[in-house]
Parts: sequence; structure tokens; C-alpha cells
Amino acid sequence: MNLDKFTGCIYGLAIGDALGMPMETMSRDDIKKKIGLIIPPTFLSPSMNPHIFSSLRHLKPGFWTDDTQLTLATMEAFIESDGSFDMNKIAQKHIEAYQGERRGWGKSTRNACQRLAEGASWKDSGEPNGAGNGIMMKIAPLGLRKSVRQQDPAAFLKECITYARMTHLGTQAIVAGVVHAAAIAFLVNSSPGNIADHSTRDFLGYLRSIALMAEKELPTTENKISEQFNRILSYWRDYIVRQKEDPEIASRFGGGTSYAYHSLGLSYALFAANPTSFSVVWQAACAGGDTDSNASIVGSLYGALNGASFIPKYLLSGLERCGYLEGVAKRFFQACNK
Ligand SMILES: [Mg+2]
Repeated sequence: MNLDKFTGCIYGLAIGDALGMPMETMSRDDIKKKIGLIIPPTFLSPSMNPHIFSSLRHLKPGFWTDDTQLTLATMEAFIESDGSFDMNKIAQKHIEAYQGERRGWGKSTRNACQRLAEGASWKDSGEPNGAGNGIMMKIAPLGLRKSVRQQDPAAFLKECITYARMTHLGTQAIVAGVVHAAAIAFLVNSSPGNIADHSTRDFLGYLRSIALMAEKELPTTENKISEQFNRILSYWRDYIVRQKEDPEIASRFGGGTSYAYHSLGLSYALFAANPTSFSVVWQAACAGGDTDSNASIVGSLYGALNGASFIPKYLLSGLERCGYLEGVAKRFFQACNK
């Protein structure tokens, strides 16, 4: 059962990434005019977006970007260290990824990996004030690993913070990452019906407590992730009353930017409203802004809760290196269970 959820999480993450990739930097209005808001029958090509980053322009439909590249790098590190947490190995895998093809890498991760490649220790490589969603987008493996291990909450928190600080030193980026890893672990061990029926409030409340715990360990910041959970809960309550989507959801959470505070707000509000419907992944892509990372984050949550069997087959068949992803998920699962 858990292997299905591990695979589902990685499939969901890569599919969200590939669905959002062609639309990165577009606004919701542009997406609505050009593509429409109904999920397309196949992956789209980045050639339809004249403003797309040059490192994505040549990609084919169904190809994924940095979100999946760095998640895979993290998983490979755990596989090679037999499931143990080895920052030297994690840093080495990041350097290898940096020296390969970089697809839409964010500034903080790029600068940090450049420092690692020049010989800096992972203890000193983090980007000062890096406050984007670069940790959230690649930390899912730490959550998957926690889901099958008896891990003390303080030890888990410490590992997540250490992992995050290699590339980002901004409190929001780190806290959002810790919360996302904890969410993935929670969802792997939850049943979809349970979350959808009555425990969404518990899920969000638990994540808020994790955010508070992480914030205690880090320098104070404005726009706290723990406070963003109050807004997510308020969106979720409104949604339960209305039972329909709010077309303005993106503007309630900063327009879908890559700022961790906004990215977490939008992704979690969308997912919490409809945790068992794959449509939330497409909705995250359609919100505009950092479309690939937001859809990838939502995809990882959806897949961790529902498992690989609930990922649409027609998308899997068009996904870049789908068999390879399945193989890495399996080897990673085995390493985590050692
Ligand atoms: Mg990306």
C-alpha cells in the first residue's frame, strides 16, 4: 500500500510539474484566454508561451523541470546511503544535478549549488534570505521516508531544517518546506475518504502546529507560515459552505507567485478544498505565476493521499521517463524500509 503512495506522490509531483511547465509566468487571465480552464487531453507545449524561460523553451510536452529534477536528486541520495540521512551525499547529488541540464532553476538554488560546486560545505552554501518555494518543491522524499520510519518529531524537524538550509536561509522557505514534508508523511498514512469527509480541519491544524514548532527554531520573520494557515482554514471553511470554487483564489494568495508564503497558501487551500479530486492539480497550474511548482506541490499532496492508481493513466502515458520515475520510487521505498 505504501509503495503505491510513494509512487503516487512522485507521479503527482512530476505530472503537476509537466502540466504547469508550459504556462510558467503566464497570468490566470492569459491562461483562461489561451488554453481555457478545462484540463487538456494531452500535455501542452512550451512553444505556446512566448514569455517562457529560455531553459524551458526547447522542452517537449510532458517534460518536467527543476521540481522533479531536484526531488529525484534527493531520492537518489537516500538510495545510495541506504535510507540514512547523509548531507554530504545530498549535496553531491545537488552538484551533479546542477552540472547537468538545469530546467528553470530558481535563483537561490542555483547560487547555492554554484557554491557547493566550487567546494563550499553544505553548512555554508545556503542563499541568505532565500524565501521562495524551492524547498517545498523538492522536500517530499523526506516526508515519504518519515511515513515508514519511527522518527522522533524533533529529529525529523532537525533533518528538514538542515536539508533546507543547504540552499535557503529564509525562514519562510524553510518553514514551508518542513510543513510540506510533514504533510506528505501525514497523507501517506491517511485514508482518502477520511481526509475528505472530516479530518481536513485536523490536517490543517496539525500543519499549523508544525509551522509554529519550526518558527521557534528560526529567526523571526513577517508573514509567518503559521499565520498563513489561518487564511487557508478560512478559505476551506468558505469553500465547505459554498461548495464551489472561488475564481479569485489565486488573488487571495498573492497571485500564485513563487514566494513560499504565497505558494504554500495557494497550494494548500486548493488541495484542502478537494483532496480526492485530481482537478486540483490542474487548478493550481491555471492560477498563473509559478504554475509548474504550484501544480507540482499540489500533485505531490494528491498522490501521497490517493496513491498511484488514482493518477490519470492518459497523463502517465505522456509523462517524460515515467518508467524511470516508477523505478526510483521503488528503490527509494526499499531504501527507506531498510
Ligand atoms: Mg520548475
